[in-house]
Amino acid sequence: MRLIRLATALFAAAACVPVFAAPANAAQQAEWCKRLTPRLPGVNVATCQRSGLQPSGATSRNGFPILMRSIPPAKPGKNGEPVRVLLLGGIHGDELTAAAIVFEWMQSLQTPAAQTFHWHVAPVVNPDGLMAAKPQRVNANGVDLNRNFPTPGWEQDAKRYWMKTTGSDPRRFPGQSPLSEPESRWLNAEMERFKPHVIISVHAPFGVLDFDGPAKPPRQFGRLYYSRVGVYPGSLGNYGGMHKNVPVITIELPNALAMPPKDEVQRIWRDMLSWIERSVPAGKTSPIQRTSNKALVDH
Ligand SMILES: [Zn+2]
Repeated sequence: MRLIRLATALFAAAACVPVFAAPANAAQQAEWCKRLTPRLPGVNVATCQRSGLQPSGATSRNGFPILMRSIPPAKPGKNGEPVRVLLLGGIHGDELTAAAIVFEWMQSLQTPAAQTFHWHVAPVVNPDGLMAAKPQRVNANGVDLNRNFPTPGWEQDAKRYWMKTTGSDPRRFPGQSPLSEPESRWLNAEMERFKPHVIISVHAPFGVLDFDGPAKPPRQFGRLYYSRVGVYPGSLGNYGGMHKNVPVITIELPNALAMPPKDEVQRIWRDMLSWIERSVPAGKTSPIQRTSNKALVDH
């Protein structure tokens, strides 16, 4: 009886307190990496394990942990506050290179050029999409996570856009309501908690850089040039860049299945670090600069 009362009390306490998963041990990391890496071009289990991913406390719709690594800066920033960078891969599960390249870059997080920033890195935001029998853009609930963010007017705009402009394409279903999905809810909560100065989200296959929000857009990372891709109801760029006043860079790799050459992977990384260094001040961000709303392709 006492045991039942204790269990009930513990359950009630757990319900009020946010859940943070215990740090993962090497065996758990190996298990997750064994499931993820068969889908990731050029990433083996050892590379995945070296990434040092930990459970964020959130899980996907099918119960796979959303994995993240937090790396604080090696020394304090110029003004005392380091630039906080949120680096995301694999929001669309069929863009395999978009997750794989983040694993590659994670191997360079403890080099001097990267160590001035405070990083939160989640290379696979949509693990169910990546690990589906056939990798898929949407999550296990059939929702395009990159249309599920609560941009103002979502209720009127997101479904109308989906029906009229995409012809009700099931790959682009925005969900029944904003933040209806555990993966988008986690990302939204992560933005609230971490308060990034810049968000970098990797996609494929349009071979460009897109940019939303304050700060001067980058001109070029590696062979990828800045070109407006478009603004969509419920997209992360629209939500973060236009409404939360956080610069959001969308990196569109040129191929969803085949990795860029190794030197190009490193060039994009170096150009990205120097753009952050030059263009993203720590502390307060500048006022919103609205960019044009020219839809070309649909990332
Ligand atoms: Zn995408």
